[in-house]
Amino acid sequence: MSNSKLLCKILRLKEMKITWFEFKDRGKELHLGVKPFKNGCRCPECGRRGGIVRLATDERTWTDITIFGIKIVLHYAPKEIDCPTHGRIQEEIPWAAVRARVTYRLEYRICAFSQIMTQKAAAAILKMASSTISDILHRVITRTRAGHKIRGLVTLGVDEISYRKGKKYATIVYDLDRSCVLWVGKGKGRATIDQFFNEQLSDRQKKQIRWASCDMSRAYTEAIKHHCPNAKLVIDRFHVVKALNEAVDAVRKEEWHKLEGDERKAIKGLRWLLGMHSRNRTKGHTRILNKLRDSNRRIHRAWVLKDEFEHFWNYSYLGSARQFLKHWMTTALKSRIPSLRKFVETLKEHQENILSFVERHLTNAVGEGLNRIIKIVKNRASGFRSLESFADLIFLTVGDLDILAQIPSKLRTL
Ligand SMILES: [Zn+2]
Repeated sequence: MSNSKLLCKILRLKEMKITWFEFKDRGKELHLGVKPFKNGCRCPECGRRGGIVRLATDERTWTDITIFGIKIVLHYAPKEIDCPTHGRIQEEIPWAAVRARVTYRLEYRICAFSQIMTQKAAAAILKMASSTISDILHRVITRTRAGHKIRGLVTLGVDEISYRKGKKYATIVYDLDRSCVLWVGKGKGRATIDQFFNEQLSDRQKKQIRWASCDMSRAYTEAIKHHCPNAKLVIDRFHVVKALNEAVDAVRKEEWHKLEGDERKAIKGLRWLLGMHSRNRTKGHTRILNKLRDSNRRIHRAWVLKDEFEHFWNYSYLGSARQFLKHWMTTALKSRIPSLRKFVETLKEHQENILSFVERHLTNAVGEGLNRIIKIVKNRASGFRSLESFADLIFLTVGDLDILAQIPSKLRTL
C-alpha cells in the first residue's frame, strides 16, 4: 500500500486521491493535495457530467476535521466544466458544499456538537474560535434552509420568547402537530406575526390551518383571526393559568405591604405554595393554606378561587364549561379583589377562545416543551450577538428541517 493510500484510509477520505502531503506550522497542520476520484467533472446544480473547459482554475483550500490535534487542510484546483443545462460552471466538489471553505465533515461535526453542548465547549474540542463556529453554523443553516418550505401546517402555535438577557423579544411559530419550530422573527408585536403570515404561507396554506394556539395578547389573536379564516383559536392554557396565578400573587403582595407583625408573619413564604397546582400539594401544604381561613381571609378567598378554576380544564361539554366559567366569574367578581376582577375582565374578553379548549385540548404545551429546549439553547450560547445566531441554534435543535440529514451521508463522520 502506498503512503497516500494509507493516508486516505486513516483519514477516511473516501473517493479521493491524495496527490501530495506536507506538514506545516510545526506539525500542527497536515496539508493534502487531493482530487475527486470518481465524482469529478459533475455539475453542482444537476449532478450531470460535463466536458472540461478549463483544466484547473485557482487552487482552493478547505479546512477539514482535526485528528490527534492535527488540523487537516485540503488543497485542490477545481476544473471548469460545460454542463448541457447550466453552461460553464465550476465542477462539484464532493467533499464540500459550493462556496464553502470547510468540508462537509467539519460542518457535520460543528452541527452535531452544537446540538448537544455549549458553543464554548464545542470551540475547545474543535480547537476553533467560538465566532468561527457560529459563522460556519450560520452558513450551513442558511444554505440547508434555503428554499425549504413549510408543508402541511394544520395546527399552529405562536409564542414569544426573550433573548439577550430578557432585553429583546422574538416571536416563535410552531407546528404543534409535528412539535417543531417553523419560524423565528424579531419582535413580539403585530408587525412580526404579520411578516410570518405574509412571507411564509400562501393563501391556500392559511386556509388549511384549522387550529391555532397563542397567549392572550391582542397582537397574536387578531393576526390569527385576520390571516387564518378557518382556524379555531384556543388560548393557551398555560398563559391563562399564569395570569390567574399572578392575580393571586398580587393579593398576597398587597396584604404583605398592608400588614405588620404577627399578621404579616402568618403569610410569610406563601408565594410558591399559592402558585402550586393542587395535584402537587402534600397534606401539609394544604393544611398551611387552610389556616389562612382564620389568619387572612382575602388571600384564602383568592386561593380557593384559583383552586376551583382548575376544574375548568376537565370539562368535555361546551355547555357545562360555559356555565362553570360564568359561575366562577360571578363568584370572583363578588370577592371584590381588584386583581381578580381584572382577571375576570381578561377572561371575558377571550371567553370564546378559552372555551374552545373544551373542543380540542390544544395547548402550546408541546410548544412550551420546545420553549424549554429553546431556553437550554439560550443558556448554552453565552450571549447571542444577534437573533440570527439564536435562531440558528433553534433551527438546529428543534427546527422543522433535520439539518444534519442534509449533509451527504458518506461524509457524516464524527
Ligand atoms: Zn447542470
